[in-house]
Amino acid sequence: MMDSDRTMLPVSVPRLSKSKFLAGLQCHKRVYLEIHHPDRATPPDPSLQAVLDMGTEIGTLARSLFQGGVLIEESYRQREAALAHTASVLADCSVPAIFEGAFEHNGVLVRVDILERVGGTDGEPPSWRLIEVKSSSRVKDVHLDDLAIQSEVLQGAGITLSSTCLMHIDTTYVYEGKEIDLHRLFARKDVTEAVAKRRAAVPAQVSAMKSVLLRSEPPVVEPDHHCHSPYDCPFWNHCTKDKPARWIFHLPGSSQVVGPLVDQGITTIDDIPAETALSLAQRRVKDNVEWVSPALRTALRSIRYPVHHVDFETVMLAVPRFPSTRPYQSIPVQWSNHIEEESGLLTHQEFLHTEPTEPRKRWAEALIESLGERGSICVYSAYEQAMMRQLAEAFPEFRSAFQAILKRLWDLHPVIKDHYYHPAFNGSYSIKSVLPAVMPSLSYGDLLIQAGGQAAAEYYRMVFVETDWVERAEIRDALLRYCARDTLALVELRRVLKEKAEK
Ligand code: SF4
Repeated sequence: MMDSDRTMLPVSVPRLSKSKFLAGLQCHKRVYLEIHHPDRATPPDPSLQAVLDMGTEIGTLARSLFQGGVLIEESYRQREAALAHTASVLADCSVPAIFEGAFEHNGVLVRVDILERVGGTDGEPPSWRLIEVKSSSRVKDVHLDDLAIQSEVLQGAGITLSSTCLMHIDTTYVYEGKEIDLHRLFARKDVTEAVAKRRAAVPAQVSAMKSVLLRSEPPVVEPDHHCHSPYDCPFWNHCTKDKPARWIFHLPGSSQVVGPLVDQGITTIDDIPAETALSLAQRRVKDNVEWVSPALRTALRSIRYPVHHVDFETVMLAVPRFPSTRPYQSIPVQWSNHIEEESGLLTHQEFLHTEPTEPRKRWAEALIESLGERGSICVYSAYEQAMMRQLAEAFPEFRSAFQAILKRLWDLHPVIKDHYYHPAFNGSYSIKSVLPAVMPSLSYGDLLIQAGGQAAAEYYRMVFVETDWVERAEIRDALLRYCARDTLALVELRRVLKEKAEK
């Protein structure tokens, strides 16, 4: 049988970019596949564009802190033109900063977010501050690697760097309304020393990647925990397609359990020795049988009618838009409520804020009215509780209503976790795993939006990016259907579990 990873012999070493270099640091096979077989990657999540849009907004705001800076507009494909444009701007002493400058050294091409001139006027030798802008809320190891390759290329290309900085979002900043205070939105960290330490290893890392890229076939790398750090590798499905259904890496929990098992040569969950210390969730996956606790019936009967089944959707904005909110604060924008009477009658109410205005008051008023004063409020995590506490804190006028509502919360998640297991859960009690296992006819597969992260990204696109009203209407419909499915899932899960408990 042909190995699907086999390929033609590359004739010359392809040029690396900083993203390819970072892919290569994660895994040599990944950089090989990205360059020679990009078609084997799983297509990116549709919500990726919204994440990119948010990153673009952050980048543009960061640049506005460097008045008079020049943007190198040529794209990645216009390599020669970008390099030439950068060189001409570098030579112009009146330019205080260069945005997206292109530099190349030793076959590695990088684009630099911001290069700030800190010397070179009045006849001094020119020197520069390298600044990377990230939409994250802290400095991560991968950012230091990102800056190490940029620093290596810049200095190889003859640029003198006086320091290296990372600008990231400061989540302690509270937006007061009107103009965003960019000096408080961004935190600036000097990482010169940490980057210099990593830079020392870069030439050897680049040369190892280049020799891998010249091979006629990808290196053999076993997929394991490294495939998910610092990012989920897009070749995971490709690399694991021939693994057994009960592959050892499907055992939930930490690498501290799986690692030693792999070292012992264990490849499937069924081969795990009986005496191995496992958590309860891992034990359930190993046993691989349906389990119903005798106490499930009592737990389910503690609910009071009418039962409100609710779910919230929120958006987290890197750049806060509503007064008294912080970057990445969860802002509730949508809820769904399926109400079940004791007679079995089911009705549905919902709310979705579709304008780029402060959503929280209208969201809270509509929710409080929908929940009324009677019955349990069935949720599937502690998230709804946390969100209502946050709203009660921010809007004192809702405090007493939310305090009464919080007393009626009834969480189905711990009930399932403590009293029921199905082999198709595969150790996960997320509603996205539980629902198709218990109610295969009611999954998320028929929906345009199938996960919370995608819902948040689509919401951002609908409200803050998209201008086509047809597209906006489609997103609105998809969001309503997704949230309604979450709460209908709660109704159906309770029903199926009741049947199992009463058997
Ligand atoms: S899935 Fe893992 S082994 Fe395969 S290319 Fe990606 S990081 Fe490497």
